[in-house]
Amino acid sequence: MWQLLSQGNIDGIAGTAGAKTVSDKNIPSVSFEEIGGQESAKKELIEALEFVKDIHGVKHMGIRAIKGILLSGPPGTGKTMLAKAAACYTESIFVAASGSEFIEMYAGLGAKRVRNLFKEARQSARKNGKKSVIIFIDEIDVLGSKRGQVSSHMEYDQTLNQLLVEMDGLSIDDEIQILVMAATNREEVLDPALLRPGRFDRIVKVDLPDKDGRLKILRIHTKNKPLADDVNLEQIARETFRFSGAHLENLTNEAAILAFRENSMVIKMEHFMEAIDKVIMGEKLDRKPNRQEMKRIAVHETGHALVGEIMNPGSVAAITITSRGKALGYVRHNPEDDIYLMTKDYIEKQINVAIAGSIAEDILLKDRSTGACNDFEQAVKYAKTMLAAGMTELGVVDESTLPKEILYQEISKILSNSEKIVREILEKHLELLEQISEELIISESFSGEKLRELISLYKVA
Ligand code: ADP
Ligand code: MG
Ligand code: ZN
Repeated sequence: MWQLLSQGNIDGIAGTAGAKTVSDKNIPSVSFEEIGGQESAKKELIEALEFVKDIHGVKHMGIRAIKGILLSGPPGTGKTMLAKAAACYTESIFVAASGSEFIEMYAGLGAKRVRNLFKEARQSARKNGKKSVIIFIDEIDVLGSKRGQVSSHMEYDQTLNQLLVEMDGLSIDDEIQILVMAATNREEVLDPALLRPGRFDRIVKVDLPDKDGRLKILRIHTKNKPLADDVNLEQIARETFRFSGAHLENLTNEAAILAFRENSMVIKMEHFMEAIDKVIMGEKLDRKPNRQEMKRIAVHETGHALVGEIMNPGSVAAITITSRGKALGYVRHNPEDDIYLMTKDYIEKQINVAIAGSIAEDILLKDRSTGACNDFEQAVKYAKTMLAAGMTELGVVDESTLPKEILYQEISKILSNSEKIVREILEKHLELLEQISEELIISESFSGEKLRELISLYKVA
């Protein structure tokens, strides 16, 4: 039954609320090895799953059990596969539902459906002699959007509330351990109530694969296919910038079909090349950006990352230019402990990091681009916070009574001061900026550790 999952919404346990029992008797047979790239997602997930596997140890130490893990990332990157692999790894029964299947329900049924999902999960585990179940909820954003936003609607709220009630009721002392995994590609619209401790408090990012990741995925999906000697998977990986795992799987399949139609006994490089075009056109994907655009994105992100590292050593977790959607690339920072009080120093550093992308472009490419709008919004927001907290020369002021020009002046003073600092830093480390952005164009993404390695390497050289 679980094989049907990737095909649509109403899969996993059967349709109508509670009418049928769980039909997923099997534990999925997907292993983590079949998931290419996604090294950090796999690592984070496996770390969390160790707690599920060693429930006695967890109990002994008095650790709060993990109840929910959220997989967040674009479509086709392997979130469903990861959830199945998690079930396989922990020898858990796998039960799945999709957010969109709850919408089709009549009033009150969504909540009932959630209740039954949990009930049936327990029954299925008991029947199959298993101690644990993974409930996978795809498209969680459909029912878990911020209340009063997007699709919010009384019916979803009840469904969401029921999910929260069920999750809150899970206990480490239960006879059957339930782990809820959910997937979304719109993490930003989720109701914060979902992300609180004891709910989906582990968030695993599942990004588009970088070049290495794409190569691994291509290897996985060509393993069972006869390849001609001229096939160069590395070149295919290079030319499939921003393809997801699902696109790559589709690509290998299309190439095989083309070869088959030509009565060729093997799949040749030309088949792959034609298949790349087909996938790009069929899915309206962007072509690989030209070298100039890649350079601009890389310089921009390197600017953020470098200044981030210099301001707060060890703070960068990852840097990438393969991301899609609103951001062309991004720098991910290590999660900090919750900050309740922001110091002036902290806010100033945040402003510096925010504007560093644009300044890096300006210094190295003598021009800025439209890619940085969001960065400036961010910087202005921080500047306003400083103002409101009385951290400027104006002292304690009430923003609402402050004349517009003064407000504007003060903000631009903060920003231009920050710009001066960032400019100095980047000009001092111009070579570093250049070299790291070149590396980024080649490998498309790297970890914070790699960044720090490069920084010390180039600094010494
Ligand atoms: P998502 O849930 O993130 O939309 P899926 O896990 O449903 O993505 O992936 C859909 C299909 O794409 C998979 O069945 C697999 O063939 C392929 N795929 C996606 N990501 C990967 C990956 N990282 N490695 C191997 N195959 C992948
Ligand atoms: Mg999926
Ligand atoms: Zn930026």
